[in-house]
Amino acid sequence: MNTMRAVVWEGPQRLRLATLPRPALLEPDDALLRVTHASTCGTDLHIYRGAVPGFEPGTVIGHEFVGEVAAVGPAVKLLRPGLRAACADFIACGACAQCAAGRHAQCGERRLFGFSGLQPRLDGGLAEYVRVPRADVALTPLAAGADPRLGLLSGDVMPTALGALQRLALAPGERLAVVGAGPVGVLTAWLAARRGVEVLLLEANPARAARALSGGLAVAEIAAGQPLSDAGPGLAGVFDAAVDAVGGERGLKTALAALRPRGRLVGAGSQAGRFELDWGALMQREISLQFVIGDPIGLRGEVEAAMADCAPALELMFSDRLRLDEVPDYFAALCRRERFKALVEVAGEAA
Ligand SMILES: [Zn+2]
Ligand SMILES: [Zn+2]
Repeated sequence: MNTMRAVVWEGPQRLRLATLPRPALLEPDDALLRVTHASTCGTDLHIYRGAVPGFEPGTVIGHEFVGEVAAVGPAVKLLRPGLRAACADFIACGACAQCAAGRHAQCGERRLFGFSGLQPRLDGGLAEYVRVPRADVALTPLAAGADPRLGLLSGDVMPTALGALQRLALAPGERLAVVGAGPVGVLTAWLAARRGVEVLLLEANPARAARALSGGLAVAEIAAGQPLSDAGPGLAGVFDAAVDAVGGERGLKTALAALRPRGRLVGAGSQAGRFELDWGALMQREISLQFVIGDPIGLRGEVEAAMADCAPALELMFSDRLRLDEVPDYFAALCRRERFKALVEVAGEAA
């Protein structure tokens, strides 16, 4: 009765559908969300592989989820049981100087759902129930008829794509290169194209390149590890701006190689650790370099305004529909890059 099913990480490449106690409200500003839909994400792959130092076995994974408010603590003001809501992929205090300035991703209390090790553990939403601390800050009511997939994208992928485009402040007619045709790269390219920007995706995986192409996006297939200048004419040194949606040394350097002198780059793919860059060349070419962490709370208004633009991209953004018990096996296929992104149907929506 007071149990739930949840996908837990037990060790590198080991996920399991577990039966756990249903989470309880612990703080006055907590809410309990009954999850109806969740999605898989590239960030989950780092966890799956065991690449996060100190990640705790037993952590419930998943940071993209929507559901119905099941219970609220006495200090929660904006939510009530029965309300449909989308959750941000992280929690923030909502009260510090960073939060007050709309930079919730830089809040000192930021914690990602479905994550542990690099932060105090916060169990995630690939589960039937999830405890949402700072519920008024993290949860956004979802319109009655809204497609749950839009709610899922609003928690991470949309604010990452929108944040990258906001930092680049592209003018119509400018040329943008997006490195990586994963979910973030595809949505970034999609939104840029809707705004009149000439955008080209650069992707090494043939299946991913074909998928983006099928959605009407322009794609250049490049070989992994090949210098961009050898990949084909008109790719290196010509773009006004670039978004790295891959991350790591390879993604960032590919994006840098695409830029014209005085070009602007935003790194949206995850970075951890160190590598060398030719800073002299970057200065001589007057390159601008920025990074973005998707901020679903700080960009709530921008995300809401972009929903209509994202709606036609939903079939492109989600390749699969799964039940919760199918998630552990799905990650093995996701890891081999055979799949793209799954909508996980956790529970039916109350009538
Ligand atoms: Zn995500
Ligand atoms: Zn804060």
